[in-house]
Amino acid sequence: MRILITGGAGFLGSHLCDRLLSDGHEVVCLDNFFTGRKRNVAHLLDNPYFELMRHDVTDPFKLEVDQIYNLACPASPPHYQYNAIKTIKTSVMGAINCLGLAKRVKARVFQASTSEVYGDPLEHPQSESYWGHVNPIGLRSCYDEGKRCAETLFFDYHRQNGVDIRIVRIFNTYGPRMLADDGRVVSNFIVQALRGEDLTIYGDGLQTRSFCYFSDLIEGFIRLMNQDEVIGPINIGNPGEFTMLELAEKVIEITGTSSKIVHKELPSDDPKQRKPDITLAQKHLNWEPTITLDEGLRETIAYFKEDLGL
Ligand code: NAD
Ligand code: UDP
Repeated sequence: MRILITGGAGFLGSHLCDRLLSDGHEVVCLDNFFTGRKRNVAHLLDNPYFELMRHDVTDPFKLEVDQIYNLACPASPPHYQYNAIKTIKTSVMGAINCLGLAKRVKARVFQASTSEVYGDPLEHPQSESYWGHVNPIGLRSCYDEGKRCAETLFFDYHRQNGVDIRIVRIFNTYGPRMLADDGRVVSNFIVQALRGEDLTIYGDGLQTRSFCYFSDLIEGFIRLMNQDEVIGPINIGNPGEFTMLELAEKVIEITGTSSKIVHKELPSDDPKQRKPDITLAQKHLNWEPTITLDEGLRETIAYFKEDLGL
C-alpha cells in the first residue's frame, strides 16, 4: 500500500515510518518540522519507497494513498502551549484535511487521539466509555479540546460520508527519538539525570501516569488499522501506573546519577491520575504491552546518552 503519515518526522511518526517500510509499504511522510526533525527520518531518505514532504496539515494536500495515519500535532505541554491557537488549528483543520482526502480517495484514515480526552479523570482506570472531565478554557484545552473535536469530526465523516476511520487513544508513550528539550516527564528526568542536574518534579509528585514503550504502541497502531472488527476509539497504553516520584527514583537508580529531586510548581489542570483500561484492545486486537517500564527506561537512557554525546 501507499501510506501517508502526517507528523511522520516526529517521535512516534518516524518509528511508524520505519515499521510500515519494513512491512513492505510505500510511505509518504508529511511534516512541518515544528517538533519533528529530519534527523529522525534521515536514514530513510535514500529509500525509493520513502518520500518526505515539508507541509503543514492545516493547509489542504492532494495525494493518492490507500491509508492515512494522522499524527501531526505537538504532544508535549510546553510545545502545544507555545502557540495554543496553532495547536487547536492543527488538530481540527488537520483532521478535516485528512478526512477530506480519505473521502476523495477512499482511504482508511487513522487518528492519533489521546488519553487527554479524559481530562483530569473522575473514573479510574479510564475506559473508552468514559466521556471525560475536561476544562474547556484552560491552558491544556487547546490540545485536549482539539483532540476531542478531531474525534467528533472523524465520527461525523464516518456517519455522514461513510469514511473508513480508526481512532486510537494513546496514553503517555516514551522512547528513543524524543527531543531532549521535549518537556515531557520521561525525557526531562533522563536528560536531567544524565547531565547531573536535579530532577524537576512538578507538585508533590504523587500524581500518576502509565508509561508505554513506543514499540508496543506502534504494534497496537498496526493491529487497529489492519482489522475490520472495530473502529475505536480504543485505548492503547501500558496499565502499569507510577507516581512521578517513583519514576524519578527509577531514573536516578538506573542512571546511577548523583542528581537530587527538586519540586517545582504544578502546572494548572495537571491530571492527578491516569491509567488505561485496555480490555477492548486485548479483546479485539489481541494486544497488550510487552515492555516493562524498567526495560524501556534502560533503552531510552542508552539512546539519550548517545544523542547527548555523554
Ligand atoms: P511529536 O511532537 O514528536 O510529533 C508530532 C509531529 O507532528 C512532529 O513531527 C511535528 O513537527 C508534526 N507537526 C506538528 N504540527 C504540525 C502541522 N501543523 N503540520 C504538519 N506537521 C505538524 O509527538 P509524538 O509523541 O510523536 O506524538 C505524535 C502524535 O501522537 C500526536 O498527534 C500526539 O498528540 C499523539 N499522542 C502522543 C502521545 C505520547 O505520549 N507520545 C500521547 C497521546 C497522543
Ligand atoms: N512532570 C514533572 N516534571 C517534569 C515534567 C513533567 O513532574 O519535568 C509531571 C507533569 O506535571 C505531569 C506528569 O509529569 O504530572 C506527566 O507530564 P507530561 O508532560 O509528560 O505528560 P502529560 O501531563 O501530558 O500526561
